[in-house]
Amino acid sequence: MIDLGKNLSVVTRRTKSSVIRELLKLTNQPGIISFAGGLPDSSLFPSEKVADIVGDLAKKFNKAELQYGPTEGMPQLKEELVKLLEKDDGIKVKPENILITTASQQGLDLIGRGFIDPSDPILVELPSYLGGLQVFQSYGANIIGVKCDDDGILIDELEKKLDMLVEEDEHYKFIYVVPDFQNPSGVTTSQERRKKLVEFSDKYNVLVVEDSPYRQVRFEGTAPDMIYKLDHTDNVVSLFTFSKTFAPGLRLGYMVAHEEIIKKMVKLKQSLDLCTSTLNQLIAAEFLRQGYFHDHVNSMITVYKNKRDAMLHALEEYMPKGEGISWTRPEGGLFLWVRLPETLSANEMFYDAVEQKVAYVIGSAFHCDGSGTNTMRLNFSYPSVEQIDTGIKRLAEVIKKELSKKSVRV
Ligand code: PMP
Repeated sequence: MIDLGKNLSVVTRRTKSSVIRELLKLTNQPGIISFAGGLPDSSLFPSEKVADIVGDLAKKFNKAELQYGPTEGMPQLKEELVKLLEKDDGIKVKPENILITTASQQGLDLIGRGFIDPSDPILVELPSYLGGLQVFQSYGANIIGVKCDDDGILIDELEKKLDMLVEEDEHYKFIYVVPDFQNPSGVTTSQERRKKLVEFSDKYNVLVVEDSPYRQVRFEGTAPDMIYKLDHTDNVVSLFTFSKTFAPGLRLGYMVAHEEIIKKMVKLKQSLDLCTSTLNQLIAAEFLRQGYFHDHVNSMITVYKNKRDAMLHALEEYMPKGEGISWTRPEGGLFLWVRLPETLSANEMFYDAVEQKVAYVIGSAFHCDGSGTNTMRLNFSYPSVEQIDTGIKRLAEVIKKELSKKSVRV
């Protein structure tokens, strides 16, 4: 065999395997309650509707469903998305502003491929989506983290970092944010900060990449505007996916941006997969056209809200009080975020937790600078309400044990 160490490309060598994947291997043991994954509840997938749609499509097949399609995406789906974006978010776009992607992960890859040259600075949230960080790392970006609070990215800190990059004459490429019920933290960026991001995209002439897989999964409260809607500079690219609102197995997403940016992305996508599955695009187009989409999202919201409530309730009930442990209260999405006292390490505690048959994802995995060792991400969409209660009880016991070890050491 060839020497993989020597022959693999720089991009392959730079691509790190996900810490989560490694840890998830440990959690695949019987009896473990896992808050570690990020999967939707598969019992909610609308399989009967999909069967009906596929059956109907098959009856009137004109063979185009099984043919290659345009790289930009099938016009039928784009037409539905134009309506959806206007109805849900008041965003007026033309089909030319949309590129259908093989889910959002491909959108992120296209952004990385399209904009990053090795050592180009990009700015991301601390914490940020791990799959995004992996892509940007593989293209050799110099990833700069900006701290966040419960209203999203800290604007003053972002401004300082941008000023510093201007001063150093650095060719920074984009700011990457997950503004709605962020993966991992569950935090939503406030309207004020969204406006600031648009202001900065203008002032610093920088692209803002808005990755928003969870936006439609809102349980309560009012949604701030999409950054894309607030934009007046054509410097915002938005990524959406059907993974959380329909089914991740379809591998369907869409990028919304200025026509000129979309054209460049289309060129890159040609070399990735020529086009996204035409059949799957037509299934989604019909799902939207026949009016199932919002009903489906609403039924999912009811279930996830119940699970979010169960997790918040269990945390309130079982977590040690007065020890500086806090957690976010997301108004939607799939995740919440726990902050432990600085003295505790969620990384070290992970193995104890697995022994006690409960799993989470270590927060440091989402920090491009390795910080956040006292944090963890908990997923509430996949486990059942009963599992959530038992799992949080187990987790609280592990934390209590860890706290008592620390106080003995002091
Ligand atoms: N962006 C974010 C913020 C995510 O959380 C995920 C995965 N859940 C993705 C992108 C990729 O999702 P997909 O490729 O399934 O659309």
